[in-house]
Amino acid sequence: MTTEFKQIFSQLRELQVMDSRIRQIDFELHEIPEQLEASGGEFLILDRSVKDKNSSLATMTQERQSLEQSVKEQQETINDREKRLYSIKTQKEYQATIKEIAQLKKDNKDKEERILALLEGAEKITAESTQLKSQAADKEGGYRQIESELKQKQSALEEEKTGLAERRPALLKALPAPLLKKYESVKQRYQDAVAAVKRGVCQGCNMNIPPQFYNEMLRAKDLRQCPTCYRLIYVDLETKEPVK
Ligand SMILES: [Zn+2]
Repeated sequence: MTTEFKQIFSQLRELQVMDSRIRQIDFELHEIPEQLEASGGEFLILDRSVKDKNSSLATMTQERQSLEQSVKEQQETINDREKRLYSIKTQKEYQATIKEIAQLKKDNKDKEERILALLEGAEKITAESTQLKSQAADKEGGYRQIESELKQKQSALEEEKTGLAERRPALLKALPAPLLKKYESVKQRYQDAVAAVKRGVCQGCNMNIPPQFYNEMLRAKDLRQCPTCYRLIYVDLETKEPVK
């Protein structure tokens, strides 16, 4: 192995280690939201229920306020019609106004019933929400602890990934373009693009390297591609056995 090749080889190995670390980091980062969800368990369920209750309360309050406004306006119309009754001249118009007043009163009564139902509902939901809030508060401490640990883990991983991404271009630049092209192309198929050959067997695909090819590799001590899986392979001399 020439000195130059040794250097290239060690840089390629470094790239491989870096790339698998980046992949590992991505995997761990991807898992964090799920871990957070799982560790939150009961607390998150309770907390979400409280939020749901609050949102129902807000909707109910809105509906009630709009009904109260409408009742108030209709009551003003009723008052107006009732005053007008005294100045009506014809029987027909009188009957029509009476009918209109009755209709408005009935409508307001329906609305008032709905307002009452909404008030009762809101009271019930408020009580439920208070109870849920206190249950959630009991569970919150444990969850926040895990949450803070996971957030710390996340930022440490992100920081490490940024560091690796910053160092990667320099490593790429140090490698010959054709080799890099091969590496990138093999990497699309396998996470471990560079594999050792031990005792004539490619450690990537576990297939035997043809004897002649292996002998050539032993003599040249360079980087080849496995005839079976096309990974970049090198002879691991420490486990080398005499060629048969
Ligand atoms: Zn192979």
